[in-house]
Amino acid sequence: MKVNVFWFRRDLRLNDNVGLHYALAEGLPVLPVFIFDKDIIGGLPEDDARVSFIHQTLSSMHSDLAKMASGVLCIHKSAGEAFDQLLAEYEINAVYANKDYEPAALDRDKKIQEELEQHGVSLKLFKDQVIFEEKEVLKQDGEPYTVYTPYMRKWRQRLKEENWQYEELPARGQFLNHQGHLPDLSELGFRESTIKVKPYDLSDLQSYSDTRNIPHLDSTSHLGPHLRFGTVSIRQIMDYALKTSETFANELIWREFFMQILFNFPHVVDKSFKAKYEHITWNNNEEDFAKWCQGETGYPIVDAGMRELNETGFMHNRVRMITASFLCKHLLIDWRWGEAYFAEKLLDYELASNNGNWQWVAGCGCDAAPYFRIFNPWEQQKKFDKQKQYIEHWVPEYETEEYPDPMIEHTFARKRALDRYAEGLKGA
Ligand code: FAD
Repeated sequence: MKVNVFWFRRDLRLNDNVGLHYALAEGLPVLPVFIFDKDIIGGLPEDDARVSFIHQTLSSMHSDLAKMASGVLCIHKSAGEAFDQLLAEYEINAVYANKDYEPAALDRDKKIQEELEQHGVSLKLFKDQVIFEEKEVLKQDGEPYTVYTPYMRKWRQRLKEENWQYEELPARGQFLNHQGHLPDLSELGFRESTIKVKPYDLSDLQSYSDTRNIPHLDSTSHLGPHLRFGTVSIRQIMDYALKTSETFANELIWREFFMQILFNFPHVVDKSFKAKYEHITWNNNEEDFAKWCQGETGYPIVDAGMRELNETGFMHNRVRMITASFLCKHLLIDWRWGEAYFAEKLLDYELASNNGNWQWVAGCGCDAAPYFRIFNPWEQQKKFDKQKQYIEHWVPEYETEEYPDPMIEHTFARKRALDRYAEGLKGA
């Protein structure tokens, strides 16, 4: 029997899933597939919380599909090997999936497409992860935007011009009648993490613009991992955001801004967006880096953030900016070290947003302002954690003898960073 394959990737949901909707609409039975890609998960720690979350999500999708006499077929191989297996076992008409814009994913999809085409099978890719993708929001001269505010304005204008409306796409059609296969975490070489992804919460959106910068309130949506793994539809969330909070909708547009930056300027993966910032001489002191990672810098707002990250896989956005700035500017450690540490720990880790924000903080990325912005951790603390509630929660020993002195003095560090950046730019 001929089947269409639907390949789940960053879209782990059955409803309002564009590619799945079209796969089911075509009429042939749809075989739902997920690949635990050895090339991706191979290097992760065995208690990786994101793998646990993916597994838990697949497990619930598997149960939903069982009610329709189907299931997800999970394959633990590299993507190429998984398709070799599928091509040998099924008569495949076409493979459906939603687009992934990261350079490694584009490369993988190109290879899979070539392999499928050799067997007369097409790979059909759909836009699902964003409202506007790739080159859909461009400047008058046809070039991509590199500054957020004009991008955001054009994004909103396009939405209006398109008379964009949200309507949920159902998963109507026939799934292949089969049992599927979901291996245990242990079969995949993992174990359940103690760190859990929180459900997202949009109940505070009315007051989002007033409260979003206060870390101890923890009032932001926690949508990050859900958007990352597609357990929720961006179209549904954006529809609600546009009707509820302009500020919140703008944050979702930041996400799309950085996605189009990564797509149009893939050199950012390991190079500064602005080439002249490649000439900065970093200190890259490993002991300093370890203190930052462990939250033992003697700057309580920095330490609170790093401890929150280490313990929960989340860090409040305001504190992400403070900790990142401290690493690049106060400690003169290459932003790429910090980016890699966040990538390892964040439940919502996403290449485009992580890279874009790190470069923004380091001053080498997409920002109209030059590198002079250096967050003063003491001022930030006064402004955003005045009563020290966030600090007391994460750094209970603060203001006792156990707490270390600041590892570097702020005024000295600020001046040193400004000098070092200036020197680097002179050499460019
Ligand atoms: P909310 O405030 O509720 O925002 C809702 C959603 O809007 C977020 O889930 C996210 O999708 C989007 N969003 C909000 N702020 C930003 C932003 N500045 N850039 C891009 N999208 C944004 N976000 C990630 O999703 N993945 C990352 O790996 C990541 N790394 C970051 C690294 C640094 C150094 C900094 C400063 C920020 C980073 N961010 C990242 C952006 C932001 O901190 C998180 O999106 C946000 O804290 C997630 O919490 P939330 O879902 O409760 O956010």
